[in-house]
Amino acid sequence: MTRTAIVTGAARGIGAATAKRLAADGNAVAVLDLDEAQCAQTVTAITDAGGRALAVGANVADAASVERAVARIAEELGAPTILVNNAGIIRDNLLFKMTEDDWDAVLAVHLRGAFLMSRAVQEHQVKAGWGRVVNLSSTSALGNRGQANYAAAKAGMQGFTKTLAIELGRFGVTANAVAPGFIVTDMTRATAERLGVSFEDFIAHNAAEIPVGRAGAPDDIAAAVSYFCSEGAGFVSGQVLYVAGGPRA
Ligand code: NAP
Repeated sequence: MTRTAIVTGAARGIGAATAKRLAADGNAVAVLDLDEAQCAQTVTAITDAGGRALAVGANVADAASVERAVARIAEELGAPTILVNNAGIIRDNLLFKMTEDDWDAVLAVHLRGAFLMSRAVQEHQVKAGWGRVVNLSSTSALGNRGQANYAAAKAGMQGFTKTLAIELGRFGVTANAVAPGFIVTDMTRATAERLGVSFEDFIAHNAAEIPVGRAGAPDDIAAAVSYFCSEGAGFVSGQVLYVAGGPRA
């Protein structure tokens, strides 16, 4: 059966790869990002491959924007029962230099965003008696220099996930988290820029520390998300899967 999935932050990076993967798995996919025009590339890739997709511009940190987006998706694509909370930003700084804005912005997109999206989508999942929520955490949840805000948000995603699993399980809804390690995207490119090193050197430096001997790709994360969204993963809930090329960050 065709289900409707929403992937937030799906204009690029891990979200784009996940949207394409969930479409290839047979789902209609809402490609949601801040700027609707930026979603075109992901949508075209899906439709060119024979899938169904809709570009949706929305700010996950804004309740009214989220409500509007989910209502539109239900109307135009079908009731959403799969939700991937992937939208994210970084505002890295050592604690003594971190501003309140740095803190609030990161917590707003990751945590408030996942909360608002999940609250809006659960209505459709409960009605259907089936659902999947996958939240993007990070190895930074274990602590990472310069990322007090981001680490707190990503650890928060794990507690949020486990609580959704407990509350929504009786309605056939599972909730799990994927915690990526180092993945080659614009986000890690921005980190290299901040540190003043070339992206190539930054990738090589990180890959040297990873047991499988390479950096991760967005498709590595999309494969894990796809598993949690699958029919067969219905008895797996409240879990955090580190996808980092080794056992730890
Ligand atoms: P990315 O390339 O920076 O993509 C993130 C996307 O989220 C962007 O398209 C961005 O839009 C969108 N976004 C930001 N704020 C939003 C908002 N308020 N509402 C809707 N969309 C918003 O990041 P990525 O590397 O693919 O990361 C995806 C997720 O994986 C994030 O949650 C990140 O924390 C997590 N993660 C990444 C890594 C890694 O190594 N890359 C590791 C661990 C976890 P704009 O371009 O318009 O800002």
